[in-house]
Amino acid sequence: TDFGFQEVPVEEKARRVRGVFDSVAERYDLMNDLMSGGLHRVWKAFTLARTGLRPGDRALDLAGGTGDLTRGLLRQVGEQGEVVLSDINASMLSRGRDRLVDEGADDRLSVVQANAEVLPFPDRHFDCVTIAFGLRNVTHKDRALAEMHRVLRPGGRLLVLEFSRPNDLIRPFYDLYSFQVLPRLGEWVAGDADSYRYLAESIRKHPDQATLGAMMETAGFARVEWFNLTGGVVALHRGYRA
Ligand code: SAM
Repeated sequence: TDFGFQEVPVEEKARRVRGVFDSVAERYDLMNDLMSGGLHRVWKAFTLARTGLRPGDRALDLAGGTGDLTRGLLRQVGEQGEVVLSDINASMLSRGRDRLVDEGADDRLSVVQANAEVLPFPDRHFDCVTIAFGLRNVTHKDRALAEMHRVLRPGGRLLVLEFSRPNDLIRPFYDLYSFQVLPRLGEWVAGDADSYRYLAESIRKHPDQATLGAMMETAGFARVEWFNLTGGVVALHRGYRA
């Protein structure tokens, strides 16, 4: 499917987020492995195991960045399926596209630059929408969730993988890590402590498990549930379009 190329005007927060990801795009994949100790791979595998996708289905990976989930989605939809990799940031997106094309992605893959708040896709088009570590960066999460709902077919699934609220046992270590270790790691590896300070802050402000679940219900999702991963450091939320 050719959705064309659409760039949506963005306001201040979106501009700032774009700046952050422009500056980290090159080191992004290395940083993911370093910062999470490789755990992001496990969290993404857990997500892919819950898409319910079958050969021939259509999937959308929003805020897909360098395309980790997209790669798995392509495998799941098979020869007859369709996957769209979408992100607001052109640097991340072209990195993702290059990587996937190098690995043999063909025209089952479309790449679309878009703000998750204003999706350039038809109603009821996708069987599954994923957004991993992306919703946190979106200014109007309610609008974005409503858009995800709109582009899903009835019975289609939304999977939101995102940092969440860790349990009491883990929280002290987690705070120490994200406010002390993380910015230093960012400075050391990417020469950019600010971006990783922003990361820690944006994680603090992100809605906890129950709040995000309620937001999904407000957007129209049914049978909303979530899975805590690594003691709630990360949660996978899933909801269905009724
Ligand atoms: N999903 C990928 C992953 O898990 O590795 C990338 C996650 S990365 C931490 C967050 C991505 O969200 C960035 O690529 C950024 O450009 C994108 N993003 C931020 N705000 C967005 C928005 N409003 N709409 C779409 N994408 C956005």
